[in-house]
Amino acid sequence: MTPRILDPKDFMFWEGSQLPGNAFMHAMRDGITGESVESAKIKTDNYINKQMSRCNSAGLGRALHTEQDKWAGGHRGYQPSYGRFSLTHWWKEENGGGQDEAVLASVRLIRKFKEMCPCACGK
Ligand SMILES: [Zn+2]
Repeated sequence: MTPRILDPKDFMFWEGSQLPGNAFMHAMRDGITGESVESAKIKTDNYINKQMSRCNSAGLGRALHTEQDKWAGGHRGYQPSYGRFSLTHWWKEENGGGQDEAVLASVRLIRKFKEMCPCACGK
């Protein structure tokens, strides 16, 4: 069996990961409660740091997913999430750019991971 590489798309379908209360996992804010951008930013950064500190590939994968979401057209600027499919969100994802910024942010995060976790041997 070929080892499976973590695919950021998989994270879209974690149980509960699309709930507005977990919007920070996607660099968005809870649109139901009217969460502030600042609150969402803090939760998002804390989530990324927590995942990075696991020092394993799953943690890095989750951190990269969230970091890359920050730059996606439907997410950029901590846009509100209402926990349901939105044609507007989909359109922004397809046409909103951010790919270059996401790549650069990913490189920075991977470099940070290598510094934080030289052996990447966390459980
Ligand atoms: Zn996401």
